[in-house]
Amino acid sequence: METPGSQSSLHRANLERVVRAVRLAGSLTQAEIARTTGLSAATVSNIVRELKNGGTVEVTPTSAGGRRARSVSLSGDAGIVIGVDFGHTHLRVAVGNLAHQVLAEESEPLDVDASSDQGFDRAEQLVSRLITATGVDRAKIAGVGLGVPGPIDVESGTLGSTAILPGWSGIRPAEELRGRLGVPVHVDNDANLGALGELVWGSGRGVRDLAYIKVASGVGAGLVINGKIYRGPGGTAGEIGHITLDEGGPVCRCGNRGCLETFAAARYVLPLLQPSHGTGLTMEGIVRLARDGDPGCRRVIADVGRHIGSGVAHLCNLLNPSRVVLGGDLAEAGELVLGPIRESVGRYAIPSAARRLTVLPGALGGRAEVLGALALALSEMGDSTLLDGGATGALPAATHAFT
Ligand SMILES: [Zn+2]
Repeated sequence: METPGSQSSLHRANLERVVRAVRLAGSLTQAEIARTTGLSAATVSNIVRELKNGGTVEVTPTSAGGRRARSVSLSGDAGIVIGVDFGHTHLRVAVGNLAHQVLAEESEPLDVDASSDQGFDRAEQLVSRLITATGVDRAKIAGVGLGVPGPIDVESGTLGSTAILPGWSGIRPAEELRGRLGVPVHVDNDANLGALGELVWGSGRGVRDLAYIKVASGVGAGLVINGKIYRGPGGTAGEIGHITLDEGGPVCRCGNRGCLETFAAARYVLPLLQPSHGTGLTMEGIVRLARDGDPGCRRVIADVGRHIGSGVAHLCNLLNPSRVVLGGDLAEAGELVLGPIRESVGRYAIPSAARRLTVLPGALGGRAEVLGALALALSEMGDSTLLDGGATGALPAATHAFT
């Protein structure tokens, strides 16, 4: 037993701080590790040498600001994490290692009306296929991050009522998948994972306060406050789609009228173009036509942008994020949608909040959620197993993990 405060427990705590910093960032120079952990350069240097000798980290030469530096990352074969993302029409799985390398990734269509049992069976099959294809050892799976298109109650891990996957309401997704894969599973909603993905690998890198806006069959936001996802007790934080824009507007699926969603989500936007463009249009199609110069599609996308911008202006006034990242198909419209968003923010947000905000398209496209799921698995895993080289199945419990 180590006595708290003793020399050896202090050393152990420092080791864990360094491993955690590297695990979350993917790779860091020794100077960056010192900045992130608050440890002295000499301590970091000693710890990195010890971790390298123990096979936990790899050190490669790099350059930082034109100077030679040493880049530290976790050893590629130290463990495996898996990301699983359920969308309303797809299932996507990625297998990654602790050095933040994606080893395999695949997406397949998923029928919205399929039962949750079928959905989880399909996820299990796809995970198994990718594990086999990459040839990694199943025993090295340190954890799974799982994204679902609905709010997750933080305490119970239950999926709240959702109009997107009605057959899934009330189930505990992490438990379902854990039962099939036999490894710890951590769950969150897709907008939060999109935010996490962009934060770690995409347009949110280096930012601590960010909102990720996802426009698909609904409109949601993942909020990162001071570097952490903010969920609220019911997991419903960031439901920006249900901000009221027009009290006399169309009835929303939430029962209210004139929500942002009724001005921006596909099912409300597509019918606007039916008289002029016929049926069979998709959001992706509208974006493509708009980019090709179609005036009707450009007008619709600009209107959607202005409405999203009103919602973002509210968000700005409340949370003052430094960056808003637009994800989903709509982001492909680039300035055609971002310009009108910025215009509305400029008009409706407090000038001092708007001034600090940059609005960017997502860098990860449709992969943001599954990569966010990998980031979730990475952030929730414990370090003791890495340091002790023990079995990876026994990780410390996190808020809504099933270990
Ligand atoms: Zn609503």
